[in-house]
Amino acid sequence: MPEQREIIWHQVRPGEERPARPATAAEARRRLESGNADFAKIGDHGGRQVISVGPEAFGLPPTAGVGLAQEPFAAVLACADARAPVELLFNQAGNSIFVVRVAGNVPGRECLGSLNYAVANLPTVRVITVLGHTGCGAVSAAVDALLSPQVYLNVIHDPSLRAIVDALLAGVRMADLTLIDRYGREVRDHPRYRETLIDMSVTANAAITAVVLGRAVECPVSFGVFSLANRTVGSYGPDGWRAGLLDPPDGDTGLTELLRWGATNADL
Ligand SMILES: [Zn+2]
Repeated sequence: MPEQREIIWHQVRPGEERPARPATAAEARRRLESGNADFAKIGDHGGRQVISVGPEAFGLPPTAGVGLAQEPFAAVLACADARAPVELLFNQAGNSIFVVRVAGNVPGRECLGSLNYAVANLPTVRVITVLGHTGCGAVSAAVDALLSPQVYLNVIHDPSLRAIVDALLAGVRMADLTLIDRYGREVRDHPRYRETLIDMSVTANAAITAVVLGRAVECPVSFGVFSLANRTVGSYGPDGWRAGLLDPPDGDTGLTELLRWGATNADL
């Protein structure tokens, strides 16, 4: 019989405790990280996760007939991919996260405007997190555009698709150069090259987007990659995959180091 898995939103009763809303960026980041750790764990071992929430998580205002106040503790810019549902993978209930989703989690004007709106109008937002994910279709399209001019020519005639691919190409190029630097030009002939380039480009794109947001929005920013393989949000470090969110890289050096760790861990 398959493992039983349950995630329950439990509305606290009067007098029952529930976790306080994070008061700082560090607390908000830890809440996302620990929520994801719980989500990943239930995939490994089965069992039940209980998320204690107030009535507002079900859309119920304190006074009947009055609109509910929006009080997310974090804003997340994530990909539209159906396999990376933001609240679910961070183990959060409704009214907890201001979610902006777009293919490739690219920081286009409307997305930046939405995040700026959240920071300016929702004082409970403590942190913005950029969330990429492994196996991203939008990033795969950008990788294919880099590897095959014909693919890019096909995209050129569709301005809406091209806007997404163009926004991703810088990260793809950085990942490509890092792999060539580490393994030589012949790495492009390796059968797993495309797959590796996609996953490294996902990290590069999330990191670059975090840098962009750090400059464009008045709020602390972090980023991470959701692994479809192990359900954790993390990134490659010197000793392999590590769960947890990161600060935006500090200029070229930080980004290069991050990509080198990805290249070192690549199975090429
Ligand atoms: Zn995606």
